[in-house]
Amino acid sequence: MNKSIMPVLGIETSCDETSVAIASGEMSILSNVVVSSQRFHKKYAGIVPEIACRHHVENINVVLDKALRQAKVDLSDIKAVSVTQGPGLIGALLVGISMAKAISYCLGIPIIPVNHLHGHLYAALLSAGRVPRFPATGLIVSGGHTSLVEMKDIDNLRLMGQTRDDACGEAFDKAARVLGLGYPGGPSIERLAAKGRPEKIGFTRSYLEEGSMDFSFSGIKTAVLNLVRGADAKSIPAADICREFQDTVFDVIIEKTRRCCLKNRSKSLLAGGGVSANNELRRRLKVLCDREGIDLLVPVRDMSLDNAAMIAGLGSYRYNRKKFGRLDFAAMADMPF
Ligand code: AMP
Ligand code: MG
Repeated sequence: MNKSIMPVLGIETSCDETSVAIASGEMSILSNVVVSSQRFHKKYAGIVPEIACRHHVENINVVLDKALRQAKVDLSDIKAVSVTQGPGLIGALLVGISMAKAISYCLGIPIIPVNHLHGHLYAALLSAGRVPRFPATGLIVSGGHTSLVEMKDIDNLRLMGQTRDDACGEAFDKAARVLGLGYPGGPSIERLAAKGRPEKIGFTRSYLEEGSMDFSFSGIKTAVLNLVRGADAKSIPAADICREFQDTVFDVIIEKTRRCCLKNRSKSLLAGGGVSANNELRRRLKVLCDREGIDLLVPVRDMSLDNAAMIAGLGSYRYNRKKFGRLDFAAMADMPF
């Protein structure tokens, strides 16, 4: 290995992906291995924490070995280990954190706990390969979260708004379940929505009170359920329902993101999380940013989903600034910015 590089190991186990990555710098990833237990959850139409945890335990050593081999880095060359501290499933987080602590302790190297949602925004930066202009707005749209944050710089974030009930990815998953489309719901709803006709159904857009940057997606899930159980359900094509569902969710996300960008006087917008893999959302974000003169950074598809590259990248950023954690930090199922 080239002795001038300072490899940082990243570990991500917050939900159903076991992932280990190695960054050689803030913007460069040598390897990013992801193994998902998603198929074992399919028949339950959602993540079963115990199943996810068991798979993390079974996979973590294999994934670590593979990441090191692909990066052509020896464990003894690693200079620091970063790991997702939260938010996530507590048992799942503990698997990654235990591994990270063991490596940090045995090698005598710094440990860097990272907020998973912050990682999702870092993935946008890594994918774009450039540091955004600040102030920026961060939009996180995932299976567990829907949040808008103000980014004063890469490592200075302030929460502006979040969902008060379901996350938007969760709404996709629940609507898909009602429509019998299987889990995860996002990709199948996106596919069907592309064939659906707009404005055939009038779901209510929930903007909450004036000026609020918060979201609420539990109403749209109930609206889909009522429609599917209603008397004329058979006459309404599923594609039209998917189209209206997706339009409803994205109308609200785009409008709140616009407000947040204007309020923060944002020069850039970073998006991340599983739902940011959706092409229609990406297209709408681009239209918004082009209109408002904002630089848009979105992750490449694989980096929209959970991965350790974003954790290793952010870890490397903090390593270079000597922002280390303590070995006795705790996993946090809920973790504020
Ligand atoms: P994450 O929580 O970041 O791992 O993302 C998982 C969530 O992203 C799930 O709720 C998926 O349904 C959702 N998702 C994945 N792909 C898409 C897509 N193409 N459109 C909408 N949602 C998606
Ligand atoms: Mg996930």
